[in-house]
Amino acid sequence: MTDDRYDVAILGSGIGGSMLACILARHGVRTLLLEGATHPRFTIGESLIPETGIRLRIIGEKYGVPEIGWIGAFHRLRDNVSSN
Ligand SMILES: Cc1cc2nc3c(=O)[nH]c(=O)nc-3n(C[C@H](O)[C@H](O)[C@H](O)COP(=O)(O)OP(=O)(O)OC[C@H]3O[C@@H](n4cnc5c(N)ncnc54)[C@H](O)[C@@H]3O)c2cc1C
Repeated sequence: MTDDRYDVAILGSGIGGSMLACILARHGVRTLLLEGATHPRFTIGESLIPETGIRLRIIGEKYGVPEIGWIGAFHRLRDNVSSN
C-alpha cells in the first residue's frame, strides 16, 4: 500500500513551484507538486539576465540544491544537464 500523505502541496510547477519543491524534497519534506496544465509549456524568450543567474546559484548553494544553480549559467547547464 502506498503512502499518499504529504507535508506540503504546491500548486503550479513553474520555476517558482519547482524550485520550492526541490528544496523541500531535498530536506526530507514529503512534497506534492500539482500542475494544472501540461509540460512542455509554451516558451518564448529563454534567456536569463545575469542577476537571475546569480540568484539561482545563490539559492542552490544556500538550500543545498546545486542543480538549481546549474540552470543559472550556460556552462553549468551544458556540463551537468545537456548540451541540447
Ligand atoms: C512570453 C514570456 C516570455 C518570457 N521570457 C522570459 C525570459 O526569457 N527569461 C526569463 O527569465 N523570464 C521570462 N519570462 C518570465 C518567466 O516566464 C516568469 O517570471 C516565470 O515563469 C515565473 O515563474 P512562476 O513559477 O512564478 O510562475 P509560472 O511560470 O507562471 O508557473 C505557474 C504554474 O502554475 C500553474 N497553475 C496556476 N494555477 C494553478 C492551479 N490552481 N493548480 C495547479 N497549477 C496551477 C500554471 O499552469 C503554471 O504552470 C517570460 C514570460 C513570458 C510570459
